[in-house]
Amino acid sequence: MTIRVTVWGENVHERKNKVVAEVYPQTMHGTIAGFLNKEDGISASTVTLQDAEHGLTAEKIANTDVLIWWGHAAHGDVSDAVTERVAEAVWSGMGIIFLHSAHFSKPFKRLMGTPCNLSWREAGERERIWVTSRQHPIARGLPDHFELEYEEMYGEPFGVPEPLETVFISWFQGGEVFRSGLTYRRGAGNVFYFRPGHETYPSYHDGNVQKVIANAVRWAHNPEARLLKPTDAPNTPVDKALEPITERGPRLHHDGQEGFR
Ligand code: ZN
Repeated sequence: MTIRVTVWGENVHERKNKVVAEVYPQTMHGTIAGFLNKEDGISASTVTLQDAEHGLTAEKIANTDVLIWWGHAAHGDVSDAVTERVAEAVWSGMGIIFLHSAHFSKPFKRLMGTPCNLSWREAGERERIWVTSRQHPIARGLPDHFELEYEEMYGEPFGVPEPLETVFISWFQGGEVFRSGLTYRRGAGNVFYFRPGHETYPSYHDGNVQKVIANAVRWAHNPEARLLKPTDAPNTPVDKALEPITERGPRLHHDGQEGFR
């Protein structure tokens, strides 16, 4: 069984910033898809913000097992319709991985329901990433800690809901710490947030970072069939109750009426 991954790239910095274009001549999304395609059992393709419907048509979403999202400068350009389509796919069982500045992306905020804010500093600091959930499938094959020599600092407090599991915590040279690998379950979908990946540093060329993302793809993949109507809220009438009941008391809704939502 092959896991079909779609890497969504905002694709703005790569075209407008010379430094980013030099660090990622194949673009960031192209680099991520490139190392994933070297993995057994993973087939990765890319789409970008500039594509029609941001590349995330209903058909593309239906054929995506795990979506990876990198965005930064143009979160506001992502349409609400596509955001809702992505959220519904996650509730139906699609896996999703949010990278770095995707903490402020519309789909992440939609799925978290909180501000998703944090403190930050762009100073090329050393980041030391500690595994806090040993033997977790996302940490498979990693040392107890590893370092990225140049990274942007993200610091606590991180305005997200308490996660299901904290897989990694980062320490930064300036003293801050950050919960840098978090898992969530939203509906039938597995969600992973992973912190590294500031666009002016070569983090997605790092072997340990690549291992985390490949592990996270396998972890996030839900092999069960997608739920068809994850937001359905059906009314079950009295005569369809599993045990016979007699209606009593006053009621607001008429038979067959749709509920408020
Ligand atoms: Zn950044």
